[in-house]
Amino acid sequence: MPLNDAVDGVEGDPDAGGRALTTSHLQGEISRLTDCTQLRSLEDRLRLQCQWSQLTRLKELRHKETSHAWLWHLNPLQGSVLAEVDYVAGVQKRLGARILLHECNCRLCGKPLDPCVNHSEICAIGEATRGHYAVVRAVVAGLRVADPAVTTEPRGLTSTQARPADIFTSAAVPGRRAALDDCIASPDAAAAGADAVESAFKRKLIHYRDVIPELHTAGIAFRPLIWSADGRPHPAATRTLKYAADVAARKRGGATAAVGIMARWKHEITVAITRRRAAMLRAVLPKTLAKELWMLTGAPDADGFGADGRLPAIEEDPPDDEGQSSQLEQQED
Ligand SMILES: [Zn+2]
Repeated sequence: MPLNDAVDGVEGDPDAGGRALTTSHLQGEISRLTDCTQLRSLEDRLRLQCQWSQLTRLKELRHKETSHAWLWHLNPLQGSVLAEVDYVAGVQKRLGARILLHECNCRLCGKPLDPCVNHSEICAIGEATRGHYAVVRAVVAGLRVADPAVTTEPRGLTSTQARPADIFTSAAVPGRRAALDDCIASPDAAAAGADAVESAFKRKLIHYRDVIPELHTAGIAFRPLIWSADGRPHPAATRTLKYAADVAARKRGGATAAVGIMARWKHEITVAITRRRAAMLRAVLPKTLAKELWMLTGAPDADGFGADGRLPAIEEDPPDDEGQSSQLEQQED
């Protein structure tokens, strides 16, 4: 097998085919082979341990369309940067880390949490919805460059009460307007099947099967835009973004600008997906009290303890159980 062939999703150097073999090229190829060997052994180990969730995440992250720029992107002047808490949560989830060191229950539903807190992916509905709108905003930010008339939450697309789309634009599908429905699919959901984004794509088409023909008759294409919670896009989402980036480049940036637009746009969408996931994680974890946080990090709590200045004399403390019981003991003495 030629060294520059892609192996297990790890791509070889596409320009190396007709080139003389140099030391750096050889080193690169040997490193790639070592990576592949390590990858296979990691996959074997996860399979032996029946760590299916981790195995799926590995595949999601290795997909060629998954953006990883948020991991090392630090300059907010050149694109969105995650807050520290979101970044840490994003990395923990990406690594499949054991986030919980002791047993505890979900703050929302009371069920016991798994050590990696995969439960958050299916339980924190409120944060999932808020995060969904953050993703919609990120998608619209890119579409607006190609189509300044893009709208969100379009009404009146059908004769029924159904609202099949988050976004309405003329820059997503060739020759037609398009109703785009964003969705983030969790590989941990019961309905995910073997491929969470493909399952979600089909679910959307089935859910709106009655209104899709009506939209089609009106010259409107319906397109679900699906990403996995790890940031892997469905091929239809990639196709849509590429088309819109090409339109934007042709209209405003020149033909060569599309690649840069696409990279920046994917970064913004992945940041939104990671923020959503981090918020969902925090929502199910036991709340850290402000004083616990201060003990851990020294971070002050502007509105909580300490806001009233110095402590009162201890006689003025509000009575608690301990205080009441010691009072009782004194009275009995
Ligand atoms: Zn729960």
